[in-house]
Amino acid sequence: MSLRLRLTLLYTTLLGGVLLIFGSLVYGLVSYTLLQQVDANLSSSADQIISQIRVGEDNRFDPRTLESYQPPEALVYQLWDRSGILQAVYPATERQPLDKGSQTTGQPKYSFVQNGPNRVRILNVPLTTPRGSAGILQVATSLGVVDMTLSTLASVLVLLVLSAMFVAGLGAWLITDQALSPLAAVTQMATQITNADDLQRRIPQTSSPDDEIGELIRAFNQTLERLEKLFITQRRFLTDVSHELRTPLTVIKGNIGLMRKLGETDEESLSSIEMEVDRLSRLVGDLLLLAQAESGRLPLAMIKVELDTVLLEVFQQMRVLAGDRLQIKIIDIDQVQVTGDRDRLKQVMLNLVSNAVQYTPAGGQVNLALRRSGGQAQFLVIDSGPGIPQEDLPYIFERFYRAEKSRKRTHSGGFGLGLSIAYWIVRNHGGTIDVTSREGKGSTFCVWLPLETEAVQAETAKAPRS
Ligand code: ADP
Repeated sequence: MSLRLRLTLLYTTLLGGVLLIFGSLVYGLVSYTLLQQVDANLSSSADQIISQIRVGEDNRFDPRTLESYQPPEALVYQLWDRSGILQAVYPATERQPLDKGSQTTGQPKYSFVQNGPNRVRILNVPLTTPRGSAGILQVATSLGVVDMTLSTLASVLVLLVLSAMFVAGLGAWLITDQALSPLAAVTQMATQITNADDLQRRIPQTSSPDDEIGELIRAFNQTLERLEKLFITQRRFLTDVSHELRTPLTVIKGNIGLMRKLGETDEESLSSIEMEVDRLSRLVGDLLLLAQAESGRLPLAMIKVELDTVLLEVFQQMRVLAGDRLQIKIIDIDQVQVTGDRDRLKQVMLNLVSNAVQYTPAGGQVNLALRRSGGQAQFLVIDSGPGIPQEDLPYIFERFYRAEKSRKRTHSGGFGLGLSIAYWIVRNHGGTIDVTSREGKGSTFCVWLPLETEAVQAETAKAPRS
């Protein structure tokens, strides 16, 4: 069933239900009021009759009782004595008891009796004197007019409810068509995009951008944009991997060819092959690590890590790498403990510092700092290198991304995976990493990690040492 039909039916049924309840209330109220009116008339007639009744010493009705009484039109009455003999009646033809089940004692009682097609309303009034029960007075009137009024009212109400439902249904059918037409356009456009396999296309904002359809279009376009980016990234990733694989494979193939030509193993070719194989293993290892880290499945041996000790180790290693070429120093070091995988955190530090050492020209300076700041650990690598161009900064943590200048370097450089790996390791530790850089002035990489909490400290203290 279409949404349009469902909405129309829902709306019409709902309206019908409400009108039906409303109609029943009106019907009930009118019927109650009319009956009250009839009952009030019967009661006042009964009062008038009773005021005319005469009772003798023996508690019997005087035969002249009600001789001069003129009842109002359409009123029927019967006066029965206590032995069940009819003493007075109007009209004279109505000699059958109006209500057979009436009591001669107790309270006045109203009842209904069906007389042919008409209902009759009867008021039974037991008549008592101080000497005891004298008989019963029954006054009655036909409810023909009331019933006719009520049946006309019921017909009018049913007709009104049905017409209102029909008009509302028609209106809802037309309005939903108008309201849902942009949705049909969205569906059509989405199908076109799928069929054409063209993720560059977007659905134009047809209706108001703030209504539900506008929001749907915006959300759909955002999904398309994200999908497009993902496809571009995937394509670029494949290109980058193939590119990185091709160079070492060409070198290996060339060296093997050379040795075959020479007919003997050549030490220089063997070490070149070995170097390229190492490079390939590094690439595969990095890619695997990145895939695990990106999917959040990086196995991390979470323990208490004294970051200041790790920094000192990194510093020692990097001082050797920097040699006399540039000055590397620790400008600030606090005692900082975090919870994490020691090797992975050291890898992050090594990567950032080695980048700084690698990209900073001779005579430059690399400063390291480790602080506690705002309940977090802050690790800073500040270099006086060439800086990273503004246009490259947003992409620096993406896989295989290398700033334009680094691309032009010989292939002995990294794969452009180091910062991505660092980013994901930090993310997997609940931290953040960012960079600020000014071309020609240098770059500052900053890592924020959550400090070891009391709870974790207690856990670590309890854990058995291996
Ligand atoms: P790579 O293996 O190329 O160093 P990274 O992911 O570690 O890969 O770094 C990505 C790119 O970021 C580098 O190619 C370089 O262009 C730029 N970069 C990283 N660190 C620095 C730095 N300290 N100074 C200038 N450029 C940097």
